[in-house]
Amino acid sequence: MKAEILAVGTELLLGDIVNTNAQYISKKLAALGIDVHFQTVVGDNEERLSQAVKNAFGRADLIITSGGLGPTEDDITKETCTKYFGKKFVYDEKALEMLKGFFAKLNRKMTDNNLKQVRVPEGSIVMYNKNGTAPGIIVEDGNKILIMLPGPPRELIPMFEEYAEPFLAAKQEYTFVSRVLRVSKIGESELENRLIDLIDNQTNPTIATYVKKFEAVVRLTAKAKSKDEANDIIKPVADEIYRRLGSDLYAEGDTTISEVTCGMLMERGLTAAVSESCTGGLLASRFTDIPGISKIFVEGDVTYSNDAKMRRLGVKRETLEKYGAVSHEVAEEMAYGIAKAAKTDIGLSTTGIAGPGGGTPEKPVGMVFIGMYYKGKVKTKELHMVGNRERIREKTVDSVFDWLRRTILAEEEV
Ligand code: ATP
Ligand code: MG
Repeated sequence: MKAEILAVGTELLLGDIVNTNAQYISKKLAALGIDVHFQTVVGDNEERLSQAVKNAFGRADLIITSGGLGPTEDDITKETCTKYFGKKFVYDEKALEMLKGFFAKLNRKMTDNNLKQVRVPEGSIVMYNKNGTAPGIIVEDGNKILIMLPGPPRELIPMFEEYAEPFLAAKQEYTFVSRVLRVSKIGESELENRLIDLIDNQTNPTIATYVKKFEAVVRLTAKAKSKDEANDIIKPVADEIYRRLGSDLYAEGDTTISEVTCGMLMERGLTAAVSESCTGGLLASRFTDIPGISKIFVEGDVTYSNDAKMRRLGVKRETLEKYGAVSHEVAEEMAYGIAKAAKTDIGLSTTGIAGPGGGTPEKPVGMVFIGMYYKGKVKTKELHMVGNRERIREKTVDSVFDWLRRTILAEEEV
């Protein structure tokens, strides 16, 4: 099946909003094995929208629209797109009841133009909207399918998942299953090297590698008649990649290094505190992003000045004078200092030069020291990174989490 996504809205053309709906729908269709050949954006204009529908059905079997289903004058998607099929409109009783209920709940009066929303083309499938007022609609005629979804993503996404996705899946002979393996701290070329024979011989599942900000990912996708069969096809290849990558492979699916490491700390009941200089609270913020982290996260101090490092963490004046704030020695005293002050199992520290200014030949921008107190010992690590201030800070934080994760795993091995 060939599909075209048709996003309707003048706001999109003006650049006021980003077309995230097209991205979402494209991803979903790819997972269903439906080829998206075009993504089109058109304003709230009857003539141009009609033309866009004609063009799209000239080259696709399926059109999915987003936006313009609301009650106002400029919401023209339903009428305009359905003209292609020449269908009569009728009131949908259930949608009308839901709409009345919606207004009653909000204690608001329903106006006549709201009724427009519950008029649907005869013989269509109505997708009831639990998160808004406008129902979505599926019209099927011969071998052409038109699926119309509301614009707000918080309405579009649940509606797609409840109605459109199963509707389309039932039409597909094959199903696709993907698994995403997340790999930390190795570059794409090294990753490819380690998997090269698998990549060269891939057919089903396919193996694709990508590099993201901090990590690399391996996506395995299998095509089969059923989900179970697809999972069975992926499994031996995934198992082999797990075996080869060992602890470089940090997780699977939709997650982050901070989530994974914090999960490990929570599972083990290991308490932590952090003292930050160049990351300015970002490390603590990543901890507190995690629900339930209060069980183990005790404290985060942003000790930016030398004075704060001495006063709060007991970093020695001589250390600062002799080695400078950006050094192994200061990172070590910071990590030790915060663990002792907060009485935690783990103390973490960051100190470095995030730029753009402040670099010297001996200590260039992107040089960062991180420290870790764990099981009575303190260790430090020197990092060198490129990129702007934000990127250096983010990479520092990801590196701290990954280092802690690897440290815990290595301790458990012995
Ligand atoms: P409503 O009933 O809210 O008017 P609608 O189906 O008529 O919904 P639009 O009026 O076109 O949809 O858009 C409503 C809002 O939905 C927009 O202001 C925007 O926030 C969001 N939206 C619309 N189209 C998109 C899109 N393609 N990607 C992301 N968000 C979108
Ligand atoms: Mg609208």
